[in-house]
Amino acid sequence: MRKAILLLAMFAAAQTPEEVPDRFYFEEGKLRVLILTGRNNHDWRATTPVLRRALEATGRFDVRVTEEPAGLDEKTLRPYHVLVSNYCGSRWGSPAEEAVEGFVRGGKGLAVVHAASYPFGEAQALGEKMTRTGVYQAPWAAWGEMVGAVWSEKEPRTGHGRRHPFRVEWTGEAHPVAEGMAPFLISDELYRHFRLKPGNVVLAEAFDDAAQGGTGKREPLVWVRGYGKGRVFHTALGHDVDAMMAPGFLASYARGVEWAAAGEVTLPARIDMHAKDANAVRALLVTGGHDHEASFYQVLGGQRDIRVNVDPHPAAFRHDLRKQYDVLVLYDSIQVEHLPERHRGNLQAFVESGKGVVLLHHAIVDFAGWDWWWKEVMGGLYVLKPREGMPASSYLHDVEIVVEPVGGHPITKGLPPMRLFDETYKNVWRRPDVIPLLKTNHPTSDEVIGWVSPYGKSRVVFLQPGHGRETHELPWYRRLVRQAVLWAAGR
Ligand SMILES: [Zn+2]
Ligand SMILES: [Zn+2]
Repeated sequence: MRKAILLLAMFAAAQTPEEVPDRFYFEEGKLRVLILTGRNNHDWRATTPVLRRALEATGRFDVRVTEEPAGLDEKTLRPYHVLVSNYCGSRWGSPAEEAVEGFVRGGKGLAVVHAASYPFGEAQALGEKMTRTGVYQAPWAAWGEMVGAVWSEKEPRTGHGRRHPFRVEWTGEAHPVAEGMAPFLISDELYRHFRLKPGNVVLAEAFDDAAQGGTGKREPLVWVRGYGKGRVFHTALGHDVDAMMAPGFLASYARGVEWAAAGEVTLPARIDMHAKDANAVRALLVTGGHDHEASFYQVLGGQRDIRVNVDPHPAAFRHDLRKQYDVLVLYDSIQVEHLPERHRGNLQAFVESGKGVVLLHHAIVDFAGWDWWWKEVMGGLYVLKPREGMPASSYLHDVEIVVEPVGGHPITKGLPPMRLFDETYKNVWRRPDVIPLLKTNHPTSDEVIGWVSPYGKSRVVFLQPGHGRETHELPWYRRLVRQAVLWAAGR
C-alpha cells in the first residue's frame, strides 16, 4: 500500500513538475537581457561578445545569448526584460516569431542593432560573410512594425555608401536615452533610404556626405518607438567591432537597452569597458632585462580592483614611487650595477615605507650584489656563480610539475593543487625562516617554490612559477598572482 502511494506521488510529480524560480539562475536586481544571434551576414561571432560586454560592464544587466532564436518560445522568453537582436538571417518560424512579437507587445523591450533591421522583409535573405542567398521568404510584417523600418531593394534602394568616419548628432535630447549625450565620431556604414514606419522618435542623425557616396542629406540612425505595451530601441550603427568600440556607440546602445528593458535610463553618457574601483590597488609592474612572452600581461589585466601600470628598466625607479603606488610587481632581471644610486634609493624608500612587493619568476635573480635586497627583502637568490658557500642554481625548461599550495595563507586561499608546464629552478638560496606558500616534489626543482619573506618593514612575496604562456594563461596562476598583489597591498 505504501509503495502504491509512493508510486502515485512520483507519477503526480512527473505530471506537474515544480518550476524552479528564475532567481536561482539570475543575478538579483539586474535587468535580464537575451541577445539573439547565430545568423548574420556580419561577423556576429566577433560582435556579440562586445554587445554582451558593453552591457555587463555597466553592472546593470545579466546577459544571456542564444545562437538559435528559431527555438524560442514563450517560456524561454518569460524571465527576460529585453531582447537584443544581432540577427540577420532567415525566418524563425511562427512559434518563435509569435513568442517574440508577444513578448514585446506584452510590455517588454527590444533593441535592434545594425543589420538586425534587415531580415524578415521583402529583401532577399542574406548568408554568412555578406553572401546573397537568392532566396526571398514571405515577409514577417510584425518585425518591420516593431523595428520601425524595413529595407527595400526598389529605388531608392536601402543600403549605404562606403564605410567611413562620420559624426553622429543627437536630435532627440528630450528623450532619456539621448539626454546628456555628446555628438560623437564613428567609422561605420551610414544607412540610408530606410522605409520608415510612423511613430519613430528619432534620437540621432548623421549627414550622409555625397563626396563619400552618400545622399547629401541627414539620415536618421537611432530611434525609439512603442509597440503594443512594449518599447523598442533601434540603432543603425555597429557594422563591426571597430565601429562598436566608439564610446558614443557603447553608451547609446547600453542606455537604449536599459530604456527598452525598464522604461528609464540610469546609465551615464559614457560606459567604461574597463572600469576600475575608486580604491583599486595601484600596482607598478616592472619588466626589462629578461625577455618574456606578451601573454604575461594578461595575468594582471582586466581586474576591477587592481590598476596596473607597466614601466620597464632602466628608468622604472627614477621617481619616488611611494605616493603613486601600493605594490611593486617585479618580473624583471637586473643587477645593481645597472641601477643608478638615486634609483636604488627610491626603491629602498618604497620598500621601507611599508608598501608591498611581489616578485615573480626570474626576478629572483635580481641584485645579487646588493645584500640588503636578497638577504633581507627577497629572502632568496638565484645564485649565478658559486659564492659564500652557496652552489650555483640551475634551471630546466618545459617541465610538467605538480604544485601544492601549503600553509593556508590568504595568498593561496581556495587554490587546489595544480599541474604546471613551466621552468623549474634548483639550488635557489632561501632563508630558512621564509613562510612557504607553494611546494613541489619534482626532482629538477627545489621543494619550496613560493614564499612570504620574513622582511619586517613591508609585505614581500616570491612566486617562482610563470615562465611562459602555459602558466600565464591558467586561471589558477592569475588568481595566485592576484591574491599575492592584494595581500601585499594590505587588502
Ligand atoms: Zn554592416
Ligand atoms: Zn624563465
